[in-house]
Amino acid sequence: MIYPWQQKLWQKLISYQQYGHAYLFHGAQGLGKSELIREFAYRLLCHNPGNVACSVCKSCKLLQANTHPDIFYLKPLEEGKEIGIDEVRKLILFLSKTANFAGYKVVIAEQIELLNRNSANALLKSLEEPAGKSILLLTTNQISSLLPTITSRCLKVACDYPSSAEINSYINEKHPDLTAEQIKDLIFLAEGSPLLISNLLENNILEQRAIFSNGLKQLFKAQINVLELGTTLQKIELLTIVNWAYDLVVRIFRYKVSQDEQGLGLADTAQVVKYLAGKNNYTDILKIEQWLLDIRNKVLRRANLNPQLLLEALLLQLCSLR
Ligand SMILES: [Zn+2]
Repeated sequence: MIYPWQQKLWQKLISYQQYGHAYLFHGAQGLGKSELIREFAYRLLCHNPGNVACSVCKSCKLLQANTHPDIFYLKPLEEGKEIGIDEVRKLILFLSKTANFAGYKVVIAEQIELLNRNSANALLKSLEEPAGKSILLLTTNQISSLLPTITSRCLKVACDYPSSAEINSYINEKHPDLTAEQIKDLIFLAEGSPLLISNLLENNILEQRAIFSNGLKQLFKAQINVLELGTTLQKIELLTIVNWAYDLVVRIFRYKVSQDEQGLGLADTAQVVKYLAGKNNYTDILKIEQWLLDIRNKVLRRANLNPQLLLEALLLQLCSLR
């Protein structure tokens, strides 16, 4: 699958007469890197490729059946866990053998930020010493967290966000029942990553957001207290709430500095942002921004936290702005 916003990149990728040994596709989650490198791998292995793989040759058939001997997938043994040294050793063994079809051997290694130190070092050797006609296709959502020794040995391919028109037409086509306002909110909530939007919809994100923003307004008007709102918000993932709270506070600060109406974020909290920007000084806003940033990092690192207490502490911080 090559998404409409990837067409230009795709044409560039296949236009080269010679291929590099290792490619690193980098960009945010939800932009379709996975689908793109599979198309690229299939085309590399296809016996009769056009713009894309032919889908009828022996190689394409084997790929469809998931039994092609010349492709290797490097992934963690368990979803979300790190990629261990044993997996990389299997990859090295795969690269040491000759290809079954006398063509390329292709490795697909996604989210290589999940490599631990040992497995990253082991992979490094494969990147340094290309064995035969092999091509490694790597992806990462966090290029900044990779070892420079890894990134410097790959051809870096930036996977960009779709334009506003591209993402709008994609969502429109996929979810024709959504209103323009809902699409705008969803793009904002997915931070511009089109493929995250379907996930967000499955998780009732619009309803959750309404619970969050209505709850905050009630809290600021002292219609409910921190404990009550804390209980209501328990049904929403903690990281989502921390992200929304952090975004809100950042916008309050920015609006105070710039008075820029374009930077108010989602319409449901725009008035709150304006009001709180007028009511608070820079120091107080920054203190809460910093606090939220620390909490966000702890949640991301899955530190040992009590979600209920943390949520209440977060609401108390926000309350102090009122
Ligand atoms: Zn083919």
